[in-house]
Amino acid sequence: MMRISSGRGQPTMQSTQTTDAVVIGAGAVGCAVALRLAQHGIISHVIERDHIAFNASGYAWGGLSAHFGSGVPGPMTKIYREAIDKHIQHYEQVSPEASHDWQLQRITSLSLADDETTATALAADAEWMRSEDFDAELIGPNEIYELESSIRPGMIAASLINSGWELDSYTYTKALADECERLGVTFASGTATSVSIVDGKINSINLNDQARIDTPLVVAATGPWVSQIDGIPELPIKPIKGEIIRLERDGNDLQNRVGFSGFNVGRKPDGSVWAGTYEWDRGFNRNITEEGRNHIMNGVTSYIPSLTGLKTIKTTACLRPVASDGIPIVGASNAADGLYYANGAGKKGILLSLSMADWIVDLVLNDIKPPAIVSPARFENI
Ligand SMILES: Cc1cc2nc3c(=O)[nH]c(=O)nc-3n(C[C@H](O)[C@H](O)[C@H](O)COP(=O)(O)OP(=O)(O)OC[C@H]3O[C@@H](n4cnc5c(N)ncnc54)[C@H](O)[C@@H]3O)c2cc1C
Repeated sequence: MMRISSGRGQPTMQSTQTTDAVVIGAGAVGCAVALRLAQHGIISHVIERDHIAFNASGYAWGGLSAHFGSGVPGPMTKIYREAIDKHIQHYEQVSPEASHDWQLQRITSLSLADDETTATALAADAEWMRSEDFDAELIGPNEIYELESSIRPGMIAASLINSGWELDSYTYTKALADECERLGVTFASGTATSVSIVDGKINSINLNDQARIDTPLVVAATGPWVSQIDGIPELPIKPIKGEIIRLERDGNDLQNRVGFSGFNVGRKPDGSVWAGTYEWDRGFNRNITEEGRNHIMNGVTSYIPSLTGLKTIKTTACLRPVASDGIPIVGASNAADGLYYANGAGKKGILLSLSMADWIVDLVLNDIKPPAIVSPARFENI
């Protein structure tokens, strides 16, 4: 990662930079914000404490779906759909080279039921989805086992949904950062510790190594750590942990995403089979645990028994930034002019990254407010 140069070696207590904008956080959201700002002529510094795509953005499942999630059915359905369209356009516009290809692809999902209550709920879901023009249907056992023969016997129905997309979230985020650098954005290692506000306006941000960056514009794209920066109000955002286990499995099955009882399994373009996940409140603990592994493996082998005993290629654990109402917080802070939030996208941060970036740019440059549902104004004093 590049480091901001003060022109006098490493930043010191006296070292000060001046820049048009600072983005705090080099996850998918921060990188997308920096890219969109740069595409509109605002070249920012991005401050990252770990590495680009080191946190949730590097280790997400990478699903882009509009048919489920917070605010669905409801006002978020349209927003998620538009977000998928933005990803398709972005992929076409940037034309990734093979080494930077984040492999955007359509995927089909199967949600399984082995009892009448679940089957009835899936039928209702499929009906709602069709009424909203999603490609969804309820299928019976014959079709289920024809599609995925490794599913254990006893499934009575499944919803088959052909409206989702997936990408590799690590490569996607790195590619955003590469594109930023090509446009002149600089990435710096450091922890933003506080923002300084003068006369109601953002004046500077301060880093852990005592460097200071003077700037009139700060975008906090910090994931769940947003409230650890002095001067930024406490946002109602919590870290919700998840874990994904990548398994080595021969063959070519599990091309569909197969879900049951909250677990999900699917084969990725590199041939590995991913198994996940859970949503646990464990504070800021990102450790991989035996408890997490057992939970996931017990869950996925309960419906695909042949996943038992496979070699684990890699296990990742990370934290979703989840707002108290499950909807992102994007817009201007009322704590200071020039302070913006692009945060709290929960389980949809990869999907929403480009949308959140566009909302910030529209607000900063054209005073066009993001959709009310994501506005910080729905909470008091942030
Ligand atoms: C198991 C799992 C599966 C998921 N699957 C999907 C999926 O299929 N589809 C989807 O859309 N989303 C998914 N998500 C959610 C998605 O990963 C997140 O919503 C998204 O990555 C959040 O991006 P972000 O940029 O807001 O946060 P992050 O990726 O967490 O990035 C924030 C960055 O800010 C940095 N930072 C924080 N504070 C400071 C500071 N003070 N100074 C400097 N740097 C700082 C952090 O180090 C971090 O790198 C999943 C999440 C998990 C855990």
